[in-house]
Amino acid sequence: MDHLVESSLFGHDSHGAIRFYEYAQGIRDGRFNPGARPRIVQERPSSAVVNGGGALGQVGAAFATRLAMEKARVHGVATVTLRNTSHIGRVGAYPLIAARAGFMAQLFANAGHLGAQVIPFGGRIGRLSTNPLAFAAPRRGHEPLLLDMTTSVVAEGKVRVAINRGESIPVGWAVDSQGRPTSDPRQVKSDPPGALLPLGGVVAHKGYGLSMMVEVMGGAVGGEGCAAGAPKFVSNGVLLTVYHIEHFTELETYYDELDAMIAHIRTSRLAPGFQEILLPGEPEFRTARKRESEGIEVDDQTWDQIRRQMKYFGLDSANWNGD
Ligand code: NAD
Repeated sequence: MDHLVESSLFGHDSHGAIRFYEYAQGIRDGRFNPGARPRIVQERPSSAVVNGGGALGQVGAAFATRLAMEKARVHGVATVTLRNTSHIGRVGAYPLIAARAGFMAQLFANAGHLGAQVIPFGGRIGRLSTNPLAFAAPRRGHEPLLLDMTTSVVAEGKVRVAINRGESIPVGWAVDSQGRPTSDPRQVKSDPPGALLPLGGVVAHKGYGLSMMVEVMGGAVGGEGCAAGAPKFVSNGVLLTVYHIEHFTELETYYDELDAMIAHIRTSRLAPGFQEILLPGEPEFRTARKRESEGIEVDDQTWDQIRRQMKYFGLDSANWNGD
């Protein structure tokens, strides 16, 4: 729940409120085992393999992050893989936990055998997943640098958000089932479905290449398996690495370098249409401050679906006062 609220606060509506009903339906369908606990199935001083037990993905991913932090504090670097974990949500959440505790962290997540949401470079039918990656690096006196991104042009959830809001999507995000560019989000989720494009526009071979490497790290090394077109829901294969900065450099030197780099970047003259240069993660932290005071807007379609699930689970929405 905290994870979904934070995702909505951060402005990632594709991974916030909209997932409540999806996860609730997953529990009803027996796709998640909400009572399961993650288990370490293999462990060495600076690595571990965690089986999420099929619980909600956020439980296993938070467990794996804490474990990697403990190990990195002692050994300098630690890598933990996570499998059988369902959907871990906003993947940047976990490197951010580590960075807020002073570590540098990176995470790669594929979607197990799924592999149908994103076209490979040169293809016209989806054969990969959105395969996100995230990095977070702590800063002195500021929120960390946080890069949390898909290797497709956007997250697939953004197409669902557009459908729920009755909006179109920009051309350049997706193709329809025939591989033709489309601005209609329903064409992406039709049967047969369309697909998202790999990141990179005219150099989309780079987004495609990154996506393949995320398959290797999250899927093959992570143990959840790689894209193979299975008609299955997302179960992220995760590979998370945490670095204890003081094993490599003086902390103050590290912070000085980041401060100097950021100050340097911000001296760039602004391109037309820009008011300032933002850092990776800054849009999320700013949106969170705004939404913390103004609230999170949930569209009617999403709210109706949440209410339907609440009713099923005996949370009478008619009497629910938001507590
Ligand atoms: P996005 O394109 O909104 O943001 C990507 C990154 O760009 C972020 O780090 C953001 O801080 C940065 N950014 C955005 N605008 C910026 C600007 N003006 N200046 C500097 N930096 C800027 O995100 P996305 O790629 O569409 O992904 C959305 C979310 O979906 C992410 O949280 C991701 O983890 C999640 N996701 C999860 C899964 C899964 O299987 N669990 C799959 C796909 C996506």
